[in-house]
Amino acid sequence: MTQGNQVRALPWITKLLAIDTTSRNSNLGLIETVRDSLNSAGVESVLTYHPSGQKANLFATLPAHDGSTNGGIVLSGHTDVVPVDGQDWDSDPFVPEIRDGKLYARGSCDMKGFIGTVLASLPDMQAAKLSKPIHFAFSYDEEVGCVGAPLMIADLQQRGVKPEGCIIGEPTSMRPVVGHKGINVYRCHVHGHAAHSSLTPQGVNAIEYAARLICFIRDLADQHRAQGPYDEAFTVPFTTAQTGVISGGVAANIVPALCEFTFQVRNLPTVDVSRIIKQIEDYAFGVLVPRMQAENPAGNIRFSKMAVAPALDESEQDAVTALVRALTADQTKRKVAYGTEAGLFKAAGIPSIICGPGDIEQAHKPNEFVSLEQLQECDKFLARFIHSMSLPA
Ligand SMILES: [Zn+2]
Repeated sequence: MTQGNQVRALPWITKLLAIDTTSRNSNLGLIETVRDSLNSAGVESVLTYHPSGQKANLFATLPAHDGSTNGGIVLSGHTDVVPVDGQDWDSDPFVPEIRDGKLYARGSCDMKGFIGTVLASLPDMQAAKLSKPIHFAFSYDEEVGCVGAPLMIADLQQRGVKPEGCIIGEPTSMRPVVGHKGINVYRCHVHGHAAHSSLTPQGVNAIEYAARLICFIRDLADQHRAQGPYDEAFTVPFTTAQTGVISGGVAANIVPALCEFTFQVRNLPTVDVSRIIKQIEDYAFGVLVPRMQAENPAGNIRFSKMAVAPALDESEQDAVTALVRALTADQTKRKVAYGTEAGLFKAAGIPSIICGPGDIEQAHKPNEFVSLEQLQECDKFLARFIHSMSLPA
């Protein structure tokens, strides 16, 4: 069994894990630690901040041996973790602990194991004669809907930084993953008109109209299930949609004036999600709102976009895909149900692929862990990666 002392990235990983970067908290403690460490190694970082100033993304470039910063490959990970609220842990989630060849802590698998291993390999990158630059991209607020990364990507575009590919180190058990679905989360506000429940014709029942819209979304989901399109590389091989949260009403004897619900659409990469959203809006604005307003002019429906993470579509032609396939000696076409920042990078013209240590099964759960073997695998992968990016010594 692999021992802790055989994982050279362990000091870095445990340092990152000890900082509670649950998405609702600031991540500056972690970002500044990384920035200062890179700085003392002679690597400058560019931070892009959340408007509150309490969170930041970090982007850093190790130039090629000739000083060039063009092209190259990004190693990317998110710094935030999901909450431990209500979870029953056997050890303190923010005090990393090794038991039976596994490193337990919130974020060990998703995904500070990867970030720490990348940081621990910095000396090797600096010792190599790099033919192309290597970039680090560490984001905030991925877990709440890929909120941070777009700022960092916009900054790259503004500064004219054009990497040729990106490796996202989300947990895939170090196997290349070439596609994932898109995630689109919307909140819907249905505004009716209150009245005494003995006088229902004088009101507009927001809950009833919300229910009609929710059933419409379910019908759309059923259509996709029955008619496709399908992509059998996914566990659930079609586009899905569902309503996850609802609230509305005050009392049994009041016609409810407000009902709000949150729904999401998880689209296959080949399915244009804007068409599905338009179908939902057309039904709301074209069918329901006129009926509501015939009852009372106060009736209305409003949508707000909560989170959008575009799907990632495979491209075997992309150089970064070929690179990761060569480094892992793995040609299997794998697609995953969870979303990542890969779709965002790809949409910005940076081809992306997912490959990182740990099993997604262990993410987000109590007693999250990454096996020390996976961390060693990741370290070896990065060594081969650095070699592939280097000129002969
Ligand atoms: Zn993650």
